[in-house]
Amino acid sequence: MKHRINIFIYVLLIGLTSFFLSDSEYFIPLIILWTILFVAILTMGVLFLKFNYFLPSITRFSTEECLLTFDDGPHPDFTPQVLDILKEHNIRAIFFVVGEKAEKHPEIIKRIINEGHLVGNHSFSHNKFLAMFPTTTLIEDLEKCQVVLKKITGEENKLFRAPIGYTNPNFARAIKVLKLHSIGWSLRSYDTLKKDKKELLNRLVSKTKPSDIVLLHDNLPQTVSMLNEYIEKSKGNGILFASGELKNKLKYD
Ligand SMILES: [Zn+2]
Repeated sequence: MKHRINIFIYVLLIGLTSFFLSDSEYFIPLIILWTILFVAILTMGVLFLKFNYFLPSITRFSTEECLLTFDDGPHPDFTPQVLDILKEHNIRAIFFVVGEKAEKHPEIIKRIINEGHLVGNHSFSHNKFLAMFPTTTLIEDLEKCQVVLKKITGEENKLFRAPIGYTNPNFARAIKVLKLHSIGWSLRSYDTLKKDKKELLNRLVSKTKPSDIVLLHDNLPQTVSMLNEYIEKSKGNGILFASGELKNKLKYD
C-alpha cells in the first residue's frame, strides 16, 4: 500500500512538474529531485521491514512480554541447547526455520512444537538472492518450505519471516498467495555480526524493552553461549519473556 502511494506521488509530481514547469530552468533539477526521493523511499522500504512498505509485518508483541525469535535453524547442536535454556526459563519462542535444514532434522522441529514453541517459514533455500527471484520462483521456494513443515508438524504453517529481512513487491505477492503472516522484529541482536559474546550480551540487555520482538539466530555459537545470561540479566531488569500459548497472543487476522 505504501509502495503504491509512493508511486502515485512520484507520478503526480513528475506530471505536475512537466505540465507547469517544462520551460523552466528548474525542470530538470526537480525531475532529478523527485526521482532521488522516490528511489530513497523505495530503498528504505526494501531494507527496513519495520516500515511495512511492501507488506504489513508484526514488529511488536501484543503483550508486555518480550518475544524471542530464532532464525536460520534448525542446527543439530545449537538448537537443542537453545530449547534446553528456554525450557528452564519456561519461555516460548518462534523458530523461523530454513526448509532445507528442517528436512534434515525433523526431530528438532517436532521437539520445538512439542515444547510449545511455534515454527515459521524462513524460505526453503535461504538463497542470498531470493529477493531478486521472480514471483513464481519465490512462491515455489516458500511453498517447498510449507510442504516440509506440514509433513513434519501435520499443520499448515501460517508464519513467515523474510530471509535477510529484505522485502519487495514479489514477497508481498508471494505471502499473499500462500496466506502467510509476516513477522518482523523491533530489536535486532546483530548476532550474525557480533562474534564477541560480552559485546553481544551487553548491547542486547541494555536495549531490551517490554513488547520487543527480538531477532536472534539459533545456528550461531555466540548466540547460544550468551542466551542464558541474557535471559537472566533481562529478568533482573524486570523484563518478562513470552510464555503460555503463543498463538493467542500473536494477533493477526
Ligand atoms: Zn535468515
